[in-house]
Amino acid sequence: MSIRAIVAVEPGGPEVLKLAEVPDPVAGPGEILVEAAATGVNFIETYQRSGLYPVSFPFTPGAEGAGRVLAVGDGVAGHAVGDFVATAEARATYAERFVVAAEGAVRVPDGIAPEIAAAIPLQGLTAHYLANSAAHPEPGETVLVHAGAGGVGLLLTQLLAARGVRVITTVSSESKRELSLAAGAATVLDYPGFPERVRELTDGEGVAVAYDGVGRATFDGSLDSLRVRGELVLFGGASGPVPPFDLQRLNSGGSLSVTRPTLTHFLRDAEERAWRYGELFAAIEAGTLDVRVGATFPLAEAAAAQTALEGRATTGKVLLTP
Ligand code: NDP
Repeated sequence: MSIRAIVAVEPGGPEVLKLAEVPDPVAGPGEILVEAAATGVNFIETYQRSGLYPVSFPFTPGAEGAGRVLAVGDGVAGHAVGDFVATAEARATYAERFVVAAEGAVRVPDGIAPEIAAAIPLQGLTAHYLANSAAHPEPGETVLVHAGAGGVGLLLTQLLAARGVRVITTVSSESKRELSLAAGAATVLDYPGFPERVRELTDGEGVAVAYDGVGRATFDGSLDSLRVRGELVLFGGASGPVPPFDLQRLNSGGSLSVTRPTLTHFLRDAEERAWRYGELFAAIEAGTLDVRVGATFPLAEAAAAQTALEGRATTGKVLLTP
């Protein structure tokens, strides 16, 4: 049997993503096979497709998705055929079916809709570790979040604002400004001149934490926005990778810190995974965390989905449906 999946045979632009028939994936020992209800599109797949992050080709992108368990491999405990699960840790989810290691999938509470289950794992877990672990801003502190209407940005803003943190965001358009304000941002800035505006808004002090997933275009300004002993959390490079920089700038800037975290290192074991998913699902069910699905594309249009994401044309989550 075969399934429909997106395959890139070589690195390149979005046009290398083509729909193909591929062999039906099989759950090996310790794995489960999932029939996708919806799967997530994430920035990392654009870095992999373009060749910025090394992967081997032919390549089917995707780590995130939600759906029903079709089969369980040998030795799997805790998952049964028919369960509805979600994951941020699968492989090749731009497809009708995908395989994931059993420990990387969680059962979704009945009250959460399938598309929300597919939308929350990767950006939700990221927002959770950024708010709680990579840094931990306290109530009353002020932080900066770039791309405030993006997938991570909307979720991170809500998690921090709910804790009583004052969130300043940047966005590139008026409609994104509205979304960021609705998520709880205290002030939404344009990118040009943002470090000066941050100084004004913090009485010259600067922010405790700058969350920067934009990278090359904003890194310098993010450093310039920090208060003494502030932390720069560089978690992505939507505008491109950050070039090497002189560590002495951390001294002259005010004993600053920079970290470059990635999600895998914040899902170290079952307990950590359960904590993060548990808090996200509870907040969604309580109505305190709004998960915005900004666009849904048919699987066959994965290239258009990545074009929109890279072209700053999306807000919230971008999904594919089989
Ligand atoms: P977003 O939905 O935030 O999309 C990216 C946004 O970045 C755009 O919408 C745009 O918002 C902004 N942006 C600014 N400059 C550019 C540019 N030159 N090209 C494209 N976009 C630009 O994406 P995600 O929420 O999926 O991811 C956000 C960042 O987080 C990415 O860098 C991603 O790699 C990273 N990430 C990191 C993880 C980790 O663990 N380290 C895990 C998950 C994501 P605007 O138009 O408002 O500027």
